Amino acid sequence: MISGIHFLLTYTCNFQCDHCFLYCHPFAKGVFTIKQMKDALDDFKKINSITSIGFEGGEAFLYHPLLVESVRLANERGFSTSIQTNSFWATSKEDAILWLNPLKVAGLSSLDVSDDTFHHGEKSDNNAKKAMEAANELGIEVNSICIKPPEVDDNNEQTKGDPIYLGGPKLRGRAVEKLVQGLPTRSCKEFTQCPYEDFENPKRVHIDPFGHVHLCQGISMGNIWETPFSELLKNYNPDNHPIAGPMIEGGPLQMAKAYNISHDDEYVDACHMCTKVCLDLIDQFPEYLTPRQVYGLE
Ligand code: SF4
Ligand code: SF4
Repeated sequence: MISGIHFLLTYTCNFQCDHCFLYCHPFAKGVFTIKQMKDALDDFKKINSITSIGFEGGEAFLYHPLLVESVRLANERGFSTSIQTNSFWATSKEDAILWLNPLKVAGLSSLDVSDDTFHHGEKSDNNAKKAMEAANELGIEVNSICIKPPEVDDNNEQTKGDPIYLGGPKLRGRAVEKLVQGLPTRSCKEFTQCPYEDFENPKRVHIDPFGHVHLCQGISMGNIWETPFSELLKNYNPDNHPIAGPMIEGGPLQMAKAYNISHDDEYVDACHMCTKVCLDLIDQFPEYLTPRQVYGLE
């Protein structure tokens, strides 16, 4: 049962991180209008299981008035609200309070700040810390999100010293272009399931300004500007979905088999293989593998 919706309020971001699984950057297109936001929130009220609404991007604070009003509208409808941010706006604690106070008044439940080297380099006194101080002072619940760089074990006993990839950012979007080089790979035969997403029974989805409902980044359930989300969800049959179906049956390997996609023998992990296969299928399923910009294609 779906409990959370995350709005990708905009694809625009003042950063251009190597690990960004949505390929966001300063010129990326797409932002909600307040009418679209209101219509979507009204529709979510028809689904009893939805209790929380998240706002992220891109960088949601780039559209601060829209963000404040969206939080207010969600709060007014009884949803708990959260925002994920890179904290570019928190240039000092005092300034951060100026940005956060209207959100507190609008009813914001919690703030998630990215605090890692991808976003802030090695600087310890970074904007994320200032954003957290300001949130604490205002009594807004705040959590820090830390994404570690890709980690490799060079001395694993089970693999007799062959390096193995331990994990790091999700290898999707720009992370595939920027981070996979030099990482150890494994046989594609191992990638028979999706490690993170529940395509059969999604608990939360992301919705972007073009109306796409993302089951995973760039894998769309459908479009809410064509069919309201409450109807999309009611009619969602994962087994008939051209991407979800094979993913449920046997992960990225099955997706490649189902559509006769020739592929490499090895990949770093399931997401790496999945991304490559999706890229090969994007012209065949433009409605479901979309928008192209999250694959680095314009
Ligand atoms: S990871 Fe976050 S901060 Fe970095 S480019 Fe993507 S949206 Fe922006
Ligand atoms: S395997 Fe594919 S669908 Fe699953 S989490 Fe990774 S990128 Fe997303």
